[in-house]
Amino acid sequence: MTFIDEVTITNKTILLRVDFNVSLNPNHSIADDARIKQSLPTIEYLLKHHNKIILIAHLGEPEKRNAGDSLAPVLKRLQESLPNNKIVMVEDFIADPEQLSKQAPTEIILLENIRFYPGEQANDPEFSKQLAALGEIYVNDAFSVSHRKAASIVGLPELLPSYGGLLLKKEITVLDGIMKHPKKPFVAIIGGKKISTKIKFIQKLTAVADYVLVGGGLANTFLAGAGHPVGKSLISEEDISLAKELLAHAKRESTQLLLPTDVVVGESLDSTTSEVRKANAIEKDEEALDVGPETLADFGKVIDEENTIVWNGPIGYMENQEFKRGTDFLYYTITNNDHATSVVGGGDTLSAINNKEYLNKITHISTGGGAMLEFIENGTLPGIEALKKASH
Ligand code: ADP
Ligand code: MG
Repeated sequence: MTFIDEVTITNKTILLRVDFNVSLNPNHSIADDARIKQSLPTIEYLLKHHNKIILIAHLGEPEKRNAGDSLAPVLKRLQESLPNNKIVMVEDFIADPEQLSKQAPTEIILLENIRFYPGEQANDPEFSKQLAALGEIYVNDAFSVSHRKAASIVGLPELLPSYGGLLLKKEITVLDGIMKHPKKPFVAIIGGKKISTKIKFIQKLTAVADYVLVGGGLANTFLAGAGHPVGKSLISEEDISLAKELLAHAKRESTQLLLPTDVVVGESLDSTTSEVRKANAIEKDEEALDVGPETLADFGKVIDEENTIVWNGPIGYMENQEFKRGTDFLYYTITNNDHATSVVGGGDTLSAINNKEYLNKITHISTGGGAMLEFIENGTLPGIEALKKASH
């Protein structure tokens, strides 16, 4: 595939797919503008080369057009970053095509939430055609949406000369690099709720990494698989057999898969008190909601030594401060290792960190949780494949 900095693109109208799916506060102000900031290099690059830009983005998962899911707050924030280019919202490009024909050279158009159109998620060919008619070239800079077979991701590259943007290039380069020729030793840290959603991801990493550290809800399933009582911790029988298979897989790959040796338990998710238990001594009315101090010390020792670190999934019920200590310790330790390439991804994982001071020390923050998982699993994404097949 070809990226925009590998060819000359000037004086064109460009349909640029970006990820502006930011998290909003209850009053609809922007809670985290990282995604808007990350889109700037590509926007500025295309502007510098005298192109007109039409931005395509989505917000949330709206079922139909509604004010709450409008990209208006995004427009406002983007305008602050690009004071020299007027940004104009086009509410409905199908009902009001006039507005687009009036685009001045330095003006940027932002199409209203593309998921307001059912054709987007359905990848409706008619809808793709309507979109394609607006521009001459398509650029995908939305790695984190590229696992979706949507019109603005896989439909447009069939219809227009298509290229990858600078952020897409960066994400692919980093993730490809760590999976194909990682600096060893390599540790993968995996947390989160359920094994079944991450099975292929864990398998892939187990094959490439030297260490796999498992925490969070996932770990309880492994403990149950090892025959330990896990009290009220949520696990399913089906997941236990997956956990056993993963343990066998790690053994075959000579990968050290470390489970918690101690855990922090509570009576329920909203407990305000907690206790530390050995991993084989969880009681009937208890739920394991974080990993314990001994485990953290062991995990910390491994992380300090590594040259490549991949992390996805909080290792505790981080919505409750009482059970967030393990997850906090993890990003302190990861960012304290200054010789490793670190990749951290996942919506909940990033919101657990939510602190610029730490986020800045991570080599690469993968904006897309789902996309990062799927890219590590398959080495590609539908949106990337579509760009590879596209004409230039
Ligand atoms: P990400 O969004 O970063 O990919 P996941 O969605 O896989 O992460 O998992 C995050 C969720 O897992 C969080 O809601 C967190 O509270 C939950 N979780 C982690 N550990 C536990 C645990 N021990 N018990 C219950 N929930 C947990
Ligand atoms: Mg999540």
